[in-house]
Amino acid sequence: MDRRTRTILVLLTFSLLTLSCSSVSDDEVISQTSNVLILRNANVIDVIAREVSEGVDIVISGESIHEIGSDLNCARYPSAQVIDVEGQYVIPGLIEGHAHITQLPEQSLTIALRKGVVALRDMAGDGYYLRVLKAAVNRGEVIGPDIYFSALLGGQELIMKDTRVKLSTPPEYDLGEAPWARLVDSNSDISQIVLDAKDCGATGIKLYAYLSADVISRVTAEARRSDLKVWAHAVVYPATVEEVVAARVDAISHSSFLLLPEGWSYKDGSRALDISNYDSLGQRRLFQHMVENDVAFDPTLVVNDQMLSSMTDRSGREAMKEAMFRSVQTAYEMGVTIMAGTDMPLPRVENDTLALYRELVLLVTRAKMTPLDALRSATIINAQMLGIDDVIGSVNENKRADMIVLRANPLDDIHNIAKIRFVIKGGRIVN
Ligand SMILES: [Zn+2]
Repeated sequence: MDRRTRTILVLLTFSLLTLSCSSVSDDEVISQTSNVLILRNANVIDVIAREVSEGVDIVISGESIHEIGSDLNCARYPSAQVIDVEGQYVIPGLIEGHAHITQLPEQSLTIALRKGVVALRDMAGDGYYLRVLKAAVNRGEVIGPDIYFSALLGGQELIMKDTRVKLSTPPEYDLGEAPWARLVDSNSDISQIVLDAKDCGATGIKLYAYLSADVISRVTAEARRSDLKVWAHAVVYPATVEEVVAARVDAISHSSFLLLPEGWSYKDGSRALDISNYDSLGQRRLFQHMVENDVAFDPTLVVNDQMLSSMTDRSGREAMKEAMFRSVQTAYEMGVTIMAGTDMPLPRVENDTLALYRELVLLVTRAKMTPLDALRSATIINAQMLGIDDVIGSVNENKRADMIVLRANPLDDIHNIAKIRFVIKGGRIVN
């Protein structure tokens, strides 16, 4: 190689390096110009390793995280768009563990995504619409979180009387026959009901109300065979929470149900909430069984907090809330897997706050979870509950590039979860 060629080569390499490593560092809205993105100098919160990697570079190629490392050789990615995120924190995209979206405008999905929600678990609604919407999101026609939904099963008293069930049943189905709003009792063909739920595109079965312990364990066993999850209300009356846990469902919902006295029925309503249930021996035994049976807990603190706030007796309601939060704290300290879900609507307009932020704040400030564990609940734990933790739920190589860049560390203060610079879903920046 003569001197001139060498000089040209050196110059060329140098210019490639400076070109490819020059980065966007302003805080304005970023428009994506390349299929390869590099987030430079990121502080990555790894929710699986439970550690923060400081000042690393994340290479996103297409939909996936290609590489995470320090002192990355930019020349290997000459066409990459580089964004400097120095001093900022990268966390996985959030997963809303308890949503109901069928009554919401489509724009709610887009707003939720911009606020960091990359997937959600819908806990009962019109399954026909949910299936169509899920496919539209997957095709990129609707911009929003990925949708995973449940097929609801209930007894006669629920299915024939609940107006929400009527609303979710299209005219071509008799009440109780739609696969996602289904009547089940001890005489039902349970294996067919489970197959229908699977066929309608549901990820899990939701056991809601007026079901016996026997029906619950038969449905759960059948769902396992069809690779469907089983999600239950904590009390499915007449089945008790102990019986629901004994059936080894995947998760139970609603912390307020933990305050119900033994022998409670729906007729007693929430007036029967009993503060003495908090931290009782019975409750500790229940949490122990949840750990042993691998049953997760979806406490839905935001909706339950709001429900208790409507009680007129001020001191009574504060004591009740305290008991509820401390129940969740006890469950957490005893090692029960905690999900983060709100049972609240997604934001309708940009200025609405995301209920999931508040859920995380309550999990930390009232149920005394560490910010990292609360963050795990809203990411990798919820991903596990949906069976998608090999694809999303953490910022790791080869996973889908779903992440949030935050301007401040959520592990220092969980309120920082709302300080979003930008969101990435499937390798694309969401604006
Ligand atoms: Zn719900």
